[in-house]
Formats: sequence, structure tokens, C-alpha cells
Amino acid sequence: MSTSVLDRSAAQVDEDLLPCRQEGPELFFAESPADVELAKALCQTCPVRSACLTGALERREPWGVWGGQLFVSGEVVARKRPRGRPRKNEVAA
Ligand code: SF4
Repeated sequence: MSTSVLDRSAAQVDEDLLPCRQEGPELFFAESPADVELAKALCQTCPVRSACLTGALERREPWGVWGGQLFVSGEVVARKRPRGRPRKNEVAA
């Protein structure tokens, strides 16, 4: 990984203060929409949230909660859809 804005910012704070370090990565890569929302809420208290979000946008993170936002395929999405329910307009193969 390159030296990102997050890396530089995180180096200036105690890593123990970062919610994703306290909670562990599973919550920030959770499948459950409720867990994703919890991870996003925890990010709001993070001292490097802004830099984390900027770095994730620059890297086009493929997946996970970064900087208080959910990323899917490099894009910020509003919220995670529950698994197993196809879209109404989804065309059957
Ligand atoms: S903003 Fe980034 S560094 Fe902070 S808790 Fe969220 S994912 Fe972790």
C-alpha cells in the first residue's frame, strides 16, 4: 500500500483511538446492514475520519466502511441492501 493521507494522519494519533482498531476489522467489512450502519456511526468519532475518507476515495476502495461511508466497488453507496432479496426490476436469466 502506498503512503496515503490516512497513513500520514494515523501516524500522528494513537492507533488505539481509532474505532476500527478497537472494534476489529470484521465490523467494518460486515455483511449485515445493521453492522454496516454501526461501523459508519463509530467512524463519526474517529480523529482521522476526513483523511480516511479522502484516502478511500483516492484508492477507490472495493469494499468496506471507510471514513464513515460504505464503499462498494470503489463508490460510496448510501446503505447496504440485505442479501437474498432480488431487485423488483431484476430480469431473470
Ligand atoms: S474513519 Fe477510517 S480509520 Fe477511522 S474508524 Fe472509520 S475506518 Fe477506521
